Amino acid sequence: MQLSALALAQGWQTDLIIADGLDYPRLLDTVRRISPSILAVSVMSPEYPQLRELARRLHADTGVFILMGGPHATFFQDIIEEPFIQAVAFGEGDISFPVFLDRFSRGLDFRGTAGMHFHVDGLVIRNGPAPLVEDLDTLPFADRRIMAKGNPLLASNPTHIFMAGRGCPNACTYCFNHTYNHMFRSCGTLFRRRSVDHLLREMEAVKAEFGMRFAYIDDDIFTFCSPEWLEAFTTEYPRRVGVPFMINTHANYTNERQIEQLRDAGCSVICFGVECGDPSVAGDLLKRYIKHEQFLTLSRLLHRCKIRFMTQNILALPVPHPLAVDLQTLDLNIACRPQYAVAHLFYPLPGTELARFAEANGFIDSLTDDLPERTNSFSALNFPNPVEKRQVERLHKLFGIVVSFPWLRPGLPFLLRLPLGPVYALLFMGWYGFSMRFRMEKTRKTKAELLFFIKSLLQSLASFMKKQPTRT
Ligand code: SF4
Repeated sequence: MQLSALALAQGWQTDLIIADGLDYPRLLDTVRRISPSILAVSVMSPEYPQLRELARRLHADTGVFILMGGPHATFFQDIIEEPFIQAVAFGEGDISFPVFLDRFSRGLDFRGTAGMHFHVDGLVIRNGPAPLVEDLDTLPFADRRIMAKGNPLLASNPTHIFMAGRGCPNACTYCFNHTYNHMFRSCGTLFRRRSVDHLLREMEAVKAEFGMRFAYIDDDIFTFCSPEWLEAFTTEYPRRVGVPFMINTHANYTNERQIEQLRDAGCSVICFGVECGDPSVAGDLLKRYIKHEQFLTLSRLLHRCKIRFMTQNILALPVPHPLAVDLQTLDLNIACRPQYAVAHLFYPLPGTELARFAEANGFIDSLTDDLPERTNSFSALNFPNPVEKRQVERLHKLFGIVVSFPWLRPGLPFLLRLPLGPVYALLFMGWYGFSMRFRMEKTRKTKAELLFFIKSLLQSLASFMKKQPTRT
């Protein structure tokens, strides 16, 4: 949305193709119909094998100029060696992308554009990184209409997502930030905030155009800001936007005063990561140094302020006995009493410290050319005990339900032994969708949204039912 806004500002036309769910002939027809000068592909690492193949075929069939960007292109810039990729954009594209577009449209030599590499006429040209945008207020508002072109239902969705700033100071080993911050630390200020006025003007415009009824400000740690910034935001927001909103926070970066300010401004949902309930695994393996008491104190504060909250958790970590660790995580969540606890199966994102650890310790095969599939169905890791692995995968499906209904906890060891994967998967998806859409946001739903919810549920179930590959 942000890059589209930058292109529109230069007079380009932009369109969006969502490749997921399209078979190749339909995708090819769509590309031929739109006939773009540039096909820009945003790639996350688990998607790369599929998108690489699509890009190869599309380039062979249409000759379209292919530009790859996004996280995978940033961390694996050598993909520029592929003969069907003409350009790779790495890092933030706010400066490099418009410079490249301008040179491209005017027929100038674009091959020296900082923040991008090129592969033209058999020659690979690599450039250094572009500077980071110092002042985020100089950027245009994200182009939300382009998403509605890809999925018209998004235009009627009453929830809209915003970013107040960029950057996270932490170095959790499973997350891209430690590597990313190291790569771009010499390119400018890593942690930036928009002005309160710039953010609120965008929110006002979105509310006026799309009828927003719930806002999600999706910064990694919204409360990682100056007291003056939060004071201005929480004072102005109710008057200028005034719909319930949700933020993410972190137990090390929040205090009572901030939570009360947010409550008074209309913040109705807060999300924070618990991630792992085993203190030594959390500290030594994940580099998350947060005491249990901090989670419990934050939870008590949120209950007192009547702010609904959701916790994030990672199961199936690369440890010899993952089930014991995951049960500690479950029990810590039960003690916190969130309205919803989200559990994810750990995925070894290539380029992260924890992925290297998983590879070095035999939990994963080579990450260089055989990325495991990322799915909610099963863990991508190899564990010594396949029975325990299956129990962890079942726990993942039941996690949020048991946290919400802790009277199920004593019967959990029995439930984990039952071979009811598809049933648990249906319960997982149903409870997840219901909790997110109805218990957390609490917005009125249209008939179209309800149909969309049921359709997504069925699609997710179909994906769950996919047979697990035989990795042992
Ligand atoms: S706090 Fe969240 S965003 Fe920041 S490094 Fe850790 S996982 Fe990543």
